[in-house]
Amino acid sequence: MLKAAVDYHACSSLACAKCKAGSSCETRALIKIDTDEPAAVDSALCMGCGDCVLECPARAINMIET
Ligand code: SF4
Ligand code: SF4
Repeated sequence: MLKAAVDYHACSSLACAKCKAGSSCETRALIKIDTDEPAAVDSALCMGCGDCVLECPARAINMIET
């Protein structure tokens, strides 16, 4: 099954708050505590829709086979 994975370097290079705000993922699988820290994926909540890949301005999210 495909799941989202964050490229931590690409995410943290852009002080983006989308995942912190929860607006990138309707299941809230993307977690971000601080704007300057990279986002992470809770794979138990990720349903593999791929919407976050299109939402990310840093192209920091990829879908990987798990
Ligand atoms: S692939 Fe879909 S469910 Fe998974 S983190 Fe991205 S938006 Fe959320
Ligand atoms: S949308 Fe992309 S750059 Fe922004 S916090 Fe999420 S993973 Fe990081």
